[in-house]
Amino acid sequence: MDRTSGKLPARGEFVVRNAYVVTMDPKLGDIPVSDVHVRDGALVAVGTKLNAPGAEEIDGRNRIACPGFVDTHFHLWGSFARGIVADGDFDYFPVMSRLGPVMTPEDAYASAKLGIAEAINSSLTTIHDWSHNIISGAYADADLRALRDCGIRARFSYGFSRDLQQKPNETADFNDIARVKREWFGPSSDGLLTMGFASRGAGDTPPEVYRKEWEFARSQGLPITQHAGRSLAEIKRFRRIEMLYKDKLLGPDVQLIHTYSASTEERGMIAETKSHVSIAPYTASCLASGLPYLGDLLKRGVQCSLSVDTTTVGGNADMFSIMRLMLQLNHLRSMDVMEVQPRRILELATLDGAKDLGIADRVGSLTPGKRADLILVRTNDLNVAPFGNPALLLVQQAQPYNVDTVVIDGRILKHKGELVAIDADEVIRKAAELFAAARKRAGGPY
Ligand SMILES: [Zn+2]
Repeated sequence: MDRTSGKLPARGEFVVRNAYVVTMDPKLGDIPVSDVHVRDGALVAVGTKLNAPGAEEIDGRNRIACPGFVDTHFHLWGSFARGIVADGDFDYFPVMSRLGPVMTPEDAYASAKLGIAEAINSSLTTIHDWSHNIISGAYADADLRALRDCGIRARFSYGFSRDLQQKPNETADFNDIARVKREWFGPSSDGLLTMGFASRGAGDTPPEVYRKEWEFARSQGLPITQHAGRSLAEIKRFRRIEMLYKDKLLGPDVQLIHTYSASTEERGMIAETKSHVSIAPYTASCLASGLPYLGDLLKRGVQCSLSVDTTTVGGNADMFSIMRLMLQLNHLRSMDVMEVQPRRILELATLDGAKDLGIADRVGSLTPGKRADLILVRTNDLNVAPFGNPALLLVQQAQPYNVDTVVIDGRILKHKGELVAIDADEVIRKAAELFAAARKRAGGPY
């Protein structure tokens, strides 16, 4: 395999033999000894002793096969600044507002690629790139090139720049959003990438601006994503969920991120309007934003999912630890260890993430006919053996270290513990080199 060419492996035909298959399909459930047959990017069959003549055989013994994990909110552009944000001294928001404006499109590409490479290595097969350092259209293109070159499935949500954040009376660049949609999401696209709109939103922009932006996004058929109710400081300034509700703007095409400080009434508004919620347990806790209301939201029937947010704060794009922390934070919020169980958390990281992003007809479970996004996790390593319950292994024990294989859209992108289509050393070298230069341009101790 030539790892420097940047070419992705072909979608071939293979069969995973004798794995413990956790389908996350409500009808199929878990199958303790099963095969998974993949051809041309699609899941052909899941079951025992499958007939698959000519297919490459992959040994699934001592492996769990399950759907790849789905992140629903990840600011890829900041990935190369992981080493500098710290408690107190170098706070996330001021650091990124210094760094963002001096970044070049080349920086954006290298930084995004670092985040994506880590994501694939860690078992994420879908991410939601919440792109809010779009200084010009070239920055949107840089992110999209990185996503395409790495072969990951993603929603790209076109956001704003630090500069536009300082200009609340200006609307987003509608012409460029339409251009990106036309150029990247036309009829010839392979379906791996979808598009959305990332909003600054009510409170940070006046009603005539955010209403116009949301109307535009909807006219383009773009789902809307919005940070809302993150912290106590925010709700002292405004209650964004209530504002959007009163404006009749919430709905099933809206993803609200965080909501840790949402009032009881606001949580009712989210449920009533069938808006979605993406929870990022690492940034919630690292930034002392608040405890997520996961159990409460699930009881209200809200579509919830899990997210990385940013590795500069959270540390890693590691869905295993995100799931684990989510479970534990919910124990502390509810003071009830039975309210949400590991299996439900696993569902949030797979099928529910796909539902949030509107792609559950294609991925999120190992259902024959869907696209082949799946992972193989070893069950006989020191930190997970002896193997008993698969949900406990995945949510409470496993680490990216245990991931043997990652398949996205039928392409094997990690195998035998190694990335096969991305030169990780080169990605790291380039990100470090460009970050050092950008940091210098940003000036000061950042
Ligand atoms: Zn965020």
